Amino acid sequence: MSKLFGLSIEDKLAMTHFEVDDKPHIWIKDQEICRKCSEKPCQVACPAKLYQWNEETKEMLYNYEGCLECGTCLLICPHDNVHWSYPSGGMGVVYRFG
Ligand code: SF4
Ligand code: SF4
Repeated sequence: MSKLFGLSIEDKLAMTHFEVDDKPHIWIKDQEICRKCSEKPCQVACPAKLYQWNEETKEMLYNYEGCLECGTCLLICPHDNVHWSYPSGGMGVVYRFG
């Protein structure tokens, strides 16, 4: 189980809710690049598991709604193929500690 600041990701998710922005703050720039990306590290690096390779359509599916705004996918993508920014003001993840 992965730990961050003494809490597991599961613990953090349980204390979290989201104000969903109707404007995505994450998107993949070019699916063709994902097709050629051999390791696809975004799938394992995203703590919220928001990236999932679809073998049938040969597309990297992703979902911005449960994003924890950690920025890992932006850093881990070896091809600079992820656009990422913070959601609009007041939207996105809301962490609750207690
Ligand atoms: S790491 Fe980047 S290029 Fe590779 S599959 Fe994920 S988003 Fe696509
Ligand atoms: S910012 Fe973090 S939680 Fe959000 S999609 Fe990227 S890796 Fe996943």
